[in-house]
Parts: sequence; structure tokens; C-alpha cells
Amino acid sequence: MKLIDGKAVSEELKNALKQDVLDYRKKSGRVPHLAAILVGDNPASKAYVGNKVRACEQVGYKSTLVKLDDNITQARLLEEIRKLNEDPDVDGFIVQLPLPKHINETEVTLAIDHKKDVDGFHPVNFGRMAQGMPAFLPATPYGILLLLERYNIETAGKHVVVVGRSNIVGTPISILLSRKSKSGDATVTLAHSRTKNLADVVRLGDIVVAAIGIPGFITEDMIKIGAVVIDVGINRVEDESAPKGSRLVGDVDFEPVRGKSSYITPVPGGVGPMTVMGLLLNTFKSANKEIYS
Ligand code: NAD
Repeated sequence: MKLIDGKAVSEELKNALKQDVLDYRKKSGRVPHLAAILVGDNPASKAYVGNKVRACEQVGYKSTLVKLDDNITQARLLEEIRKLNEDPDVDGFIVQLPLPKHINETEVTLAIDHKKDVDGFHPVNFGRMAQGMPAFLPATPYGILLLLERYNIETAGKHVVVVGRSNIVGTPISILLSRKSKSGDATVTLAHSRTKNLADVVRLGDIVVAAIGIPGFITEDMIKIGAVVIDVGINRVEDESAPKGSRLVGDVDFEPVRGKSSYITPVPGGVGPMTVMGLLLNTFKSANKEIYS
């Protein structure tokens, strides 16, 4: 079994990007700029946004954090999005999800200018991605592709089973891995809450991507010997022995599955840091007008 070290790969990629950013700054006289809107004070969202701001500092980007109150109206939030859409200094921005219940998330996603949608959630980017056109790839699937590439994990002709069909992880990674491309050309099964005989389906996977949101859901009996296991889940579970009384675990029952797999991502330190990397790379592409002129 080989551990896929997302933390180490993201550090390597950040160091390379840092140099590219220096060159960009010299050449253009400006600084790549990523902004984030954070609504309310959900601790997990605060931590994710904090990581993104720190990552910007590490690679030499400018970052702006727009903090908004939990009870902000839809109209006010859309107004903040409009300001960022129109600010020529901002290359890209994200609205950290989840949003409070009274906010219409779809309307928010649609309000973001797709040319600044560095999270890759806007239907224009999603559609372009699905058709193999240049697009901002959703940050987590982008990060997974980078990990597979970095570890030379062959996907062509392999059977990939993705569990979970969210718009931000499961569905886009299933599309990307099945496309005719590098880190693609796989035969993909997209499994979800209505899949029958899920264990039998997952057992067919040469590569298994778990994006469910249930701690330890993928157990050892579901994994074929030698499979590659990509655990996207981030779940906080109680643990009295941990300093905070809780710890983060993935959707995979790590220790037993580890023994059966050829490669596996840990949680934390697997896909999570690569999601931030995907976001940084999309922002750099935006600054360079690589996707849209
Ligand atoms: P989601 O919560 O929107 O959807 C969960 C999916 O799991 C659904 O499509 C559902 O069909 C499927 N599912 C639920 N119960 C199931 C069952 N019993 N059997 C089979 N499938 C079932 O998913 P999401 O937003 O993709 O998040 C999934 C997990 O990934 C969460 O833990 C989330 O925190 C984590 N996540 C991590 C990153 C990262 O950077 N590592 C990024 C995004 C999400």
C-alpha cells in the first residue's frame, strides 16, 4: 500500500506556483487576486476559508475576505457578488458553501460571473468541462486529477466507481475520469443513495472515489485487493482522546481498507489540500486569461 500524500504534493505545487507568480508579477506589474465571501460563522467554513487565505499568502496572491452576517438577505449577498464581478482587480472569487437555509444557493451560483468562477460551480464551466472545452474545473475534482497524475496512476481502461453524485464532487469527477483525456478514458460507474447492492458495485472498482459524507462508510469488504482508494469525505467525529474532543475522518474505514488497497488518500492530508491547490491554479489561469480572454 502506498499513501497518496496530498499535503506533500500540494506543497510541491505551491512552490512551483510561487515562482510562476513572481514571473507573472514582474511581467504584468500586477498581483493575482482571489476573493472569498464567507456568510455566517460555521466553524468548518471558517476553517476552509482560512486555509484558502493562507494558501494565497504562501504563493504570493492578494486575497480579500468578505465576511457577511448569517442573516444577510439574498439581495445583499447578490449585491456583494455583483461588486466582485465588476471589480477589475479581482481575478476570481468563491462563495463558501454551505449557505444559510434562507439563501437560494442556485441563484448565488448563477450570479457569479463564470469568467471569475474559480470554484468551477457555474453551469457554463460545468457544461464546458463536460464537453472537454477549456473551463475552470471544480476545485476538488481538479485536485484529484492532479494527485492521480502525480502518482502516475493509470486511469485508461480502468473501472472507476464513484460513490456520491454531488454537483461539486461526485458528478464532475465521474465525467472527468470518463472523458477522452489524460487522467481520463476510464469506465465509470456513478453510485449513490439509490444504488442497489452497493458493496458489489464498489467491489468492481479498480479505482474507488468516495464522496458521501458518512464517516467510515466504505468498508474493507467493499474493496477489491489492489484498488486505488480516493477518500474525499471530511467528517468530524467525537473522540475523547483527541485534544479537541473530536477529529476528522474520511468516508473510508481507513486502517482496514489501507491494508487491501494499492494506493490510498488519508484524511486529513489527502484530497483536502489539493482542493485548495485546484482553486489557486484556477485563479492563476484566470489572471493569465487562459480559459477566457
Ligand atoms: P453531498 O453531501 O452533497 O452528497 C452526498 C452524496 O452521497 C449524495 O450524492 C448521495 O447520493 C450519496 N449518498 C448518501 N448516502 C449514501 C448511501 N447510503 N449510499 C450511497 N451513496 C450515498 O456530497 P459532497 O458535497 O460531495 O460531500 C461529500 C463529502 O466530501 C463530505 O464529507 C464533504 O465534507 C466532503 N468534501 C470534501 C472536500 C475536500 O476538499 N476534501 C470537498 C468537498 C466535499
